[in-house]
Amino acid sequence: MIKLIPLIISFMLFSAAAQGSEWTATQGDVLSVKSSVQAEKLRLWCFGKIWPAKQLANRSWQGWIGIDLKTKPGIYPIEWSNGKQVIAKATLSVAKGEFRISHITVEKKMADFDAPTLKRIRSEATLLRATYTAPVDANPDIHMAGKPTEGIESTPFGAQRYVNGVARSPHSGIDIAAPAGTAIITPLAGKVLHVADMYLNGKTVAIGHGNGLVSVYSHMQSTDVKQGQWIQTHQKIGEIGSTGRATGPHLHWGVRFHNARVNPETLL
Ligand SMILES: [Zn+2]
Repeated sequence: MIKLIPLIISFMLFSAAAQGSEWTATQGDVLSVKSSVQAEKLRLWCFGKIWPAKQLANRSWQGWIGIDLKTKPGIYPIEWSNGKQVIAKATLSVAKGEFRISHITVEKKMADFDAPTLKRIRSEATLLRATYTAPVDANPDIHMAGKPTEGIESTPFGAQRYVNGVARSPHSGIDIAAPAGTAIITPLAGKVLHVADMYLNGKTVAIGHGNGLVSVYSHMQSTDVKQGQWIQTHQKIGEIGSTGRATGPHLHWGVRFHNARVNPETLL
């Protein structure tokens, strides 16, 4: 019996340590993780990327990881490093999201593209995609102050899209339906990285908030901002419309976090 005691104690220690370092999330989540390690400088690694992290008042660390919509469900390593070596390890268990199916019917020219249109769509997508990795020096805050507009959520995040019966990419944002002309306000300060009138996305604004966080607003009737401009939280950036491939006036609101397609609602 006496011999068993150290075994029991070491088992208890092991389970206490393991408990704080196993994180769970669902596809599309932004996960907040913590480490009790009190190092001067720590870097948070996951999915082969460095994620934003800050030291808290008690000297422990907090960081945020974006789980792309299409991350394969499974177990992934999380590492806290001081730049030279790994100081602490944890695991992230990613679960499959429960996403709905969404069908839309549009004019043929908005579903079957001729060669020049396809070329235009691809070059517009390349320009927008470049904003997802553009460095922006801004306040290290990833929390959105609210939704960018009042309205009804018409298509949720992650929905599997069918356009005229053909499966397309999953819905990488949320759609908020509201009357044309309704104001769109930015829920977080940042720098306007891109303003464009795109074939599919319509009038679009991309805002970089720093820390690898970029929000995108599409199908706008009008835009009030220009590229390079810094904007404040709650500033109006334009109005709801139905430009591009849209079946009615609505805002498509998408968020990329270090290029991961994440659910904007997980940042509210
Ligand atoms: Zn949408």
